[in-house]
Amino acid sequence: MEQNLQGFRLSPHQEHLWAFRMADPDAPYVALCEVEISGALDRARLAAALARVVERHEILRTSFRQVPGLVLPLQVIEGEAPVELPGELATTPWDPSQGAPLRAALADLGGSRHSLLLALSALCADARTLSLLVAEIAREYAGGEGGGDQEGPIQYVDIAEWHASLLEAEESLDGKKHWHRLGFLDGLDAALPFELRGHRGDGRFEPRTFPLVSDAGVMERVEGLARQAGVPPATVLLGAWHVLLRRLTARTGLVVGLSVDGRKFEEMRDALGPCARHLPLLCETVDDEPFSGLVARLGETQAWVGEWQEYFDWREVPGAGGTPRSFPFCFEAGDVAGPWTGAGVTFSIVRRHAFTEPFLLRLSVFRWQGGFAAEVQYDAGALAPEQAERLAGWYRTLLEDALAHPGRPVGDLEMLSGTERAVCLVEWNGTATDFGPPTPLNELVWRQAERSPERIALVGDSGDSGNDGELSYAELRRRARLVAAYLRRLGVTPETPVALAVERSPEMIVGLLGILEAGGAWVPMDPDYPADRLRWVREDSGARVLLTQERLAARLPAGTGEVVCLDRDWPRIEALGAAPGGGGARPEGLAYVIYTSGSTGRPKGGMVEHRAIANRLLWIQSAFPLTAGDRLLQKTPYSFDASIWEIFVPLLAGACVVLAEPGGQRDNAYLLDAIARHGVTTLQLVPSQLRLFLEQDGLRAGCASLRRMFCGGEALPSVLAARLFERLEGSVSLCNLYGPTESSIDATFHPWDPCDHLPELETVPLGRPIANVQVYLLDARWKPVPPGVPGELCIGGAGLARGYRGRPDLTAERFVPHPESAVPGARLYRTGDLARHLEDGVIEFLGRIDYQVKVRGFRIELGEI
Ligand code: AMP
Ligand code: MG
Repeated sequence: MEQNLQGFRLSPHQEHLWAFRMADPDAPYVALCEVEISGALDRARLAAALARVVERHEILRTSFRQVPGLVLPLQVIEGEAPVELPGELATTPWDPSQGAPLRAALADLGGSRHSLLLALSALCADARTLSLLVAEIAREYAGGEGGGDQEGPIQYVDIAEWHASLLEAEESLDGKKHWHRLGFLDGLDAALPFELRGHRGDGRFEPRTFPLVSDAGVMERVEGLARQAGVPPATVLLGAWHVLLRRLTARTGLVVGLSVDGRKFEEMRDALGPCARHLPLLCETVDDEPFSGLVARLGETQAWVGEWQEYFDWREVPGAGGTPRSFPFCFEAGDVAGPWTGAGVTFSIVRRHAFTEPFLLRLSVFRWQGGFAAEVQYDAGALAPEQAERLAGWYRTLLEDALAHPGRPVGDLEMLSGTERAVCLVEWNGTATDFGPPTPLNELVWRQAERSPERIALVGDSGDSGNDGELSYAELRRRARLVAAYLRRLGVTPETPVALAVERSPEMIVGLLGILEAGGAWVPMDPDYPADRLRWVREDSGARVLLTQERLAARLPAGTGEVVCLDRDWPRIEALGAAPGGGGARPEGLAYVIYTSGSTGRPKGGMVEHRAIANRLLWIQSAFPLTAGDRLLQKTPYSFDASIWEIFVPLLAGACVVLAEPGGQRDNAYLLDAIARHGVTTLQLVPSQLRLFLEQDGLRAGCASLRRMFCGGEALPSVLAARLFERLEGSVSLCNLYGPTESSIDATFHPWDPCDHLPELETVPLGRPIANVQVYLLDARWKPVPPGVPGELCIGGAGLARGYRGRPDLTAERFVPHPESAVPGARLYRTGDLARHLEDGVIEFLGRIDYQVKVRGFRIELGEI
């Protein structure tokens, strides 16, 4: 049909844009502006002015025609392209094969004000095209001549042809090499931690904007700093943007898509059409570089990008074959220009966006009406509006802090508002609880013994053969005091470490309490551990006295000190009698030393004081109270601190500890049987064991007495929690406990609620801090991270261990001065766990941090999640 079709090839940039169109023909790739026209407007005159402008610029009459045999369309310039001026902008999808890339609408706002909307297909426009278009419409309206284009304006097809040929030319190889050297693609997959889950892949680009308000003084300071650094003001704004993105992505090297106007040469100045492109601006952020230094460096990089701009070619970027690439993070600065007055009316641009290709987040800054306007532009398919708003606030805070302290290391700039800081640091840590005067563990148990001396405190289970002894509270106290007196004769005084190597049995508890009553600290030596490790623990802890049982004594590595067998030596212990007077334990004295294996090196002995562990015990008793009727199955090996609450909480509540038989903790069938036989009400299991435990036959019947379960020690999958609920028909509550040994078993807890659990979370959250404990999520510079952003979980407050035995270096590395506390000497324990706050302050576990020890001191880079 069309015999004389004259077409032109696309510009390299249009090719890139075309690929996005093809990927999603209905996506809103558009350049749009809103113009306020004040004065007595003549509609017909405006329509005529518009028509003349369309007549003058081919790009406003261009269509894109697919031709058989060619992959890419040709751009075809139509003879005419009438533009209507309806009251509202047409919303039908753009058909690129119809040569009408420009749409307009005119609305009467009343009071001699009109609103003119202009929308251009992304294939034909950029931000500056809109300003040039409005300027020209205004000039035509005013009947003005002298647009400076007597020869006719430069047409976009000529620019397209020039650019396409340039990139094909042999001589461009040098220019292209500059880009190849960058290897800039590394950062193209950067993401934000709070992107809406599951959006990637099916995500359609949905651009939205959020205005960034700043007071007038800010721009003055921006200009002042720009002058000092010898860069354009926009570069200062880009600097703060860079710092924000570095913080949010936890990347030091980041690519920002820098929007470059592309009208580099004088002849192109007033060209309409898609000249502007996003080009990769690669910049490393060094956390201790001053902000002014970063800005100066960005200025150089920006100039470099400008210099080589025409040689950047997406087609040479290796990557996702076929799918068009774009920059997740962009920056755009420009000039809105105007207002323009003539023939009694004034045209002012009040809004202007060019959404020509997808991005996740863009900062858009414009010189506008004598000042600056900025907005955060975001993909609403990936970010929630509240998140964009929050982000805008962080940017503003960062920028203002940077302007106030341009010499400050960028890593130290503040991004949270005072209110946000207070919420993260104070409000979510409002855990102060008074548990009365600090009391040693043994005293807490004796208080209960006073109240219920005859009640059964301990039952030793021994499988089918029945009970391996029971002890009443009074008998437990009597025996523990005998052990204490014996130990004191052996020289045990406050703070003396005493090794304890026993099988799970009532004797184990008698031994523990005996050591505490003497004022000493217990050091568990699990007889199941390899001899090497036991030898190390005995030597490193400095435990001269070893409490054990006759059947184990021979198996243990020979030590130098005293060995007391609780069974064999019992007649002697009993004969010597109890010493009068109370024990030597003090609240601030050492209660135990538990060895944990670090990821590297030898096991280290965490030293925990009575007051720290007592806080944890009293907390759980207040949060999940046991009563006299409760029976807790003690099955965790006593070399793990999680065993401590299994033992002590029932004892300070007047409840009963059921001691699983030695080794029984590994046998789920045995555990289920013991639960049924003893009417156990409370059980703690690590998630990996819970998974298997739940799949046993007869589970529901065996667990008839069970009311409460606690999980901890490792991440608790949400599906596992749901499975527990299903298998036990909702008869048992579940709480996730989290904490390192260095903060006395647990620092946070999260009661799982089947009704309000968040299905998109893979694991049950860690929850909130327990009583008198604070949890902070900090970045590599120990600044609090905003909600949603991963940080290292650091613990402060009542639960902290004293440190590692004999390891002042390691202690100082992991227990650091509390950066946020007014209390002298307050410390924080750095767990090495990566976590983030959900909206309401609940903490979500993300994994372990990948440590990189930097040259100066200890700086961590938050690992990838
Ligand atoms: P430990 O000092 O042996 O008790 O080990 C503490 C570490 O176990 C923590 O730092 C976490 O990495 C991990 N952990 C403990 N409880 C949990 C939990 N509820 N969810 C995920 N990880 C946990
Ligand atoms: Mg633990």
